[in-house]
Amino acid sequence: MAGSTRCLIAGNWKMNGTLQESLSFIHDLGENPAPEYVEVALMPPFTLLHPLAKPFAEKEVCLGAQSMYCEARGAYTGSISPVMLRDAGCHYVILGHSERRDIQHESNTLIRKKMDAAWEYGLEPILCIGEHLDDRECGKTNEVLADQLSVLEGLNAEHPLTVAYEPVWAIGTGKTASVEQVKETHAFVHAELQRLGHDCRVLYGGSVNAGNAEELLACKGVEGALVGGASLKADSFMQIIEAANSAEN
Ligand code: PEP
Repeated sequence: MAGSTRCLIAGNWKMNGTLQESLSFIHDLGENPAPEYVEVALMPPFTLLHPLAKPFAEKEVCLGAQSMYCEARGAYTGSISPVMLRDAGCHYVILGHSERRDIQHESNTLIRKKMDAAWEYGLEPILCIGEHLDDRECGKTNEVLADQLSVLEGLNAEHPLTVAYEPVWAIGTGKTASVEQVKETHAFVHAELQRLGHDCRVLYGGSVNAGNAEELLACKGVEGALVGGASLKADSFMQIIEAANSAEN
């Protein structure tokens, strides 16, 4: 595998969190939030990366960013670069999240440039892929996922990479994919990754919470979770980590 093989529980805070709130979150995480079998990462907003780097490191929580631009520096007002993310202590960067694809109109071409830039400057991308509800209803799920994964074509498979399958209709909606859908889609994603030469870890994302984590993480082909809403509160995030640890144990 190109990336780490440990199960990853990654929390995407999206546009949430002040310094005060994040310090309380860290306090509530307790002494040892990252157990033996699970890697834990959090992606706070950019303003919190520097102040959280040290407290996260002390709790063995890996730091990540939610997005970045594909250039190292220059006249790109409002953007953040991979060099800045490394400087702030990031290991991961989420790329291709559906909210970036849909709201900021990020294309596969741009995402591929970002993947290259992430690797050039030492970041591990978490490449998000996922179909909309109408794609699934029209039987186009695999076609959409294959198109989104095509950004990996011809890229060096030695670079660290994590993929997150996140059905867009399950993000922030409280609806999760069924166990059957998760197993079937993860099998397709793994097969497609193998065809492209990238044998990497695949996470599931989409309304994962303390109540459904165990069942989702037990599905074949699921090697962790990308968690939005339920990562904002330390207690629900910790319960998901514990579910992952027992699934791995
Ligand atoms: C996400 O934003 O990647 C996500 C999965 O969000 P939520 O867990 O809130 O559905």
